[in-house]
Amino acid sequence: MENKFCYKCDKVATSREHVPPICLFPEAKDVMGLNFRKDLITVPSCDEHNSKKSHDDEFLMLSIAGIVGNNLVGYLQSQTKVDRAIRRKCKDFLNKEVIKNYTHQTLKSKSGRKYPVLYGNPNYDRLVSCFEHIAYGIYFHEFGERFNGIVKMLLGFISYNDKNTQTMTEMVKEKFRVDEISKGIKGENPAIFKYQFFEPDQFGLIGMVMTFYEGTEAFVAFQPKNSKEPFDLSLSLLNAGIPTFIEVGGKTFEFNKK
Ligand SMILES: [Zn+2]
Repeated sequence: MENKFCYKCDKVATSREHVPPICLFPEAKDVMGLNFRKDLITVPSCDEHNSKKSHDDEFLMLSIAGIVGNNLVGYLQSQTKVDRAIRRKCKDFLNKEVIKNYTHQTLKSKSGRKYPVLYGNPNYDRLVSCFEHIAYGIYFHEFGERFNGIVKMLLGFISYNDKNTQTMTEMVKEKFRVDEISKGIKGENPAIFKYQFFEPDQFGLIGMVMTFYEGTEAFVAFQPKNSKEPFDLSLSLLNAGIPTFIEVGGKTFEFNKK
């Protein structure tokens, strides 16, 4: 039997896990009968790495479905399934688990329509851990083997307080946009989830971008165990706090602004 082992560790698989979690894909009843659950991806998983057991799936859904910039399907999902899930929780669940210290605000779209949003601090570490699981799963699906190495991640929808991290995120976004050696966009339900791998760079780093609801992006770098440690003069200057300019795709990104 093939794929006997877990997508994340070397334990024997006991079930199959949806990547991304199935709850991100709307049920037909919530989206006027449309089918957004075509050929969902599953990978073999051990008990420990089955995310259903940690309630991470629901956490992820609550965290990202309603992000500003998502498409209409994400909005519908946040008004139906997400809303039902929140109503089942205790009153301060959102504040405690999903978005800390949030406030209600109103945003105005370009067309002048007003809509309510929550502003606050997302549970960043848990979000990153959820996206990491998905990244490992997608890697397994794409290459038929478990990824062995280090995964690094930047979330495109977060406003980082640290200026350098924020600039780095903008730069990574641009780098993914101008990188031409991509392997093409994949995903059978692109309105909900799509992903794109990039050929390894000179350090052996494999890039991937995952997009949810056409607006929520997670940028992933897979660094295989045996690859060279990426060394980049600009990056070490950056870490040393020296004002640094890096150019990507004709745009200049400035770090350690004085
Ligand atoms: Zn496992």
